[in-house]
Amino acid sequence: MAMDRRNFLTTATLASLGLTLEAQDINQKDGRAADAKREASAVGGPPSKPVMISSRNGWNGMDKGYQMLLEGGDTLDAVIAVGKTQEDDPNDDSVGLGGLPNEEGGVELDSCCMHGPTRRAGAVGGVRWTKNASLLAQAVMQHTAHVMLVGEGADRFARAMGFPKDELLTERSRKAWLLWKESHRDSWWGPGLSDPNYRVPPDLQPPPPPSAQWWEQKRRELEELAAELAIPLEWRGHCIDRVLFPTHGTIHCSAVTPKGEMSGMTTTCGLAWKIPGRCGDSPIIGAGSFTDQDVGSAGATGSGEENIRVAGAHTIVENMRHGMTPREAGLDALKRIARNYRHNPAKLRYVDMQYYVLRKDGAYAGVSLWSHTASDKRRQFLVHDGSKRLEDMPYLFAGGPLSFPPQAREPFQRPNYGPSQPEKK
Ligand code: ASP
Repeated sequence: MAMDRRNFLTTATLASLGLTLEAQDINQKDGRAADAKREASAVGGPPSKPVMISSRNGWNGMDKGYQMLLEGGDTLDAVIAVGKTQEDDPNDDSVGLGGLPNEEGGVELDSCCMHGPTRRAGAVGGVRWTKNASLLAQAVMQHTAHVMLVGEGADRFARAMGFPKDELLTERSRKAWLLWKESHRDSWWGPGLSDPNYRVPPDLQPPPPPSAQWWEQKRRELEELAAELAIPLEWRGHCIDRVLFPTHGTIHCSAVTPKGEMSGMTTTCGLAWKIPGRCGDSPIIGAGSFTDQDVGSAGATGSGEENIRVAGAHTIVENMRHGMTPREAGLDALKRIARNYRHNPAKLRYVDMQYYVLRKDGAYAGVSLWSHTASDKRRQFLVHDGSKRLEDMPYLFAGGPLSFPPQAREPFQRPNYGPSQPEKK
């Protein structure tokens, strides 16, 4: 059901906010023609050209990864090339170098990968001194009899394998963290959404009316604090956004070739300001990424804790094994998350989830719990099958999520301040 988001958000009552999954189910328009064409035929053999899908932040590395496949390269090397491009970029604060740190100011990276042809997997969690977590996960797969290494052991393994020791915290991310720390934002401590006794703060339920003044005041306070902290002018908007709306980042990428080979990889710095040691879904095989080239490959970005609870990537591949299309398989996993909260929108609006789904014949889908991001941009995913493009994601709920943990007096609707820096493609 198509719906104007602004109108939807301002007029919706909690009861109407997506309680009827079926009613709001899938945005029928998005990609319908393409999907219908792809899905009309039964699952066939491998595609005639390589197909890659990823989260939209894979844009910069996607051409390189695709070229590797055209030249007969390995599928895992190709999907890692997509992740590595962003891991190397200090201006991408969601993965690798420059990733936003934990509550103590330490950057901790997570990644996992699966190699379809050899049916092997590798993963690392809480890596502090190695920017290319995706390559390190691959090294665990190739050079150990284990699947997952975490924390200090993972970094020691990196040194043993010859990875350089990288300082991951860039000056801009350190400043953003300092601003968060000094403005005493709510932390991740205390019971989470999934706790049966968890109550969304009363002043958030039902949603208070939008208060532009509150936001302006908050922003002014943070701007003053940013000035005191000597945060350069050109970084201030960015740092304030990160404090007000802690990011979800993460890159997932999956690929299939005409030989029928498939791989998948997910890499992230995890949630901003997380409790040190926290691992989300991204390093968990079966949650952040899962590949079985007899069937397909899937991966996730978004609220890691929610995805772990439904083993999202594995669930999706199994759904396809049992005959669901990529889109149905992804939406089913999203519905399981909604079910975990009894479809309670007061909680679900703090959950953000996207899945990227690729079937062995090249059929694909990207699906999202919410139609828009927290900053009101249409949710999209990236695909390359000879031409690289962004496609809108079908979704369960119209609107955008709010950042969790809920912040006292956070209004339901965020005024549109516009992006503080150009959005990456
Ligand atoms: N899934 C990641 C995590 O929970 C974060 C994200 O994708 O934004 O660590």
